[in-house]
Amino acid sequence: MSDKIAQHKHCRACGKAFVGSDRFCSEECRTSNTTNLQKKKRQLLLLYVVTFVVLILALVATWG
Ligand SMILES: [Zn+2]
Repeated sequence: MSDKIAQHKHCRACGKAFVGSDRFCSEECRTSNTTNLQKKKRQLLLLYVVTFVVLILALVATWG
């Protein structure tokens, strides 16, 4: 009887294969991934705000 290769997952942060129920291979990867996600979210929000402001400015310029 040969056991199947243990169920493994790939770390969402570094892509390394590991065995476990978590999505990250280590606490370090989890932390770095969360930090990256928060940074990305903030960048996205900033982009959104900037786009909105530019849109408003363009609208005002057109009206003026
Ligand atoms: Zn990892």
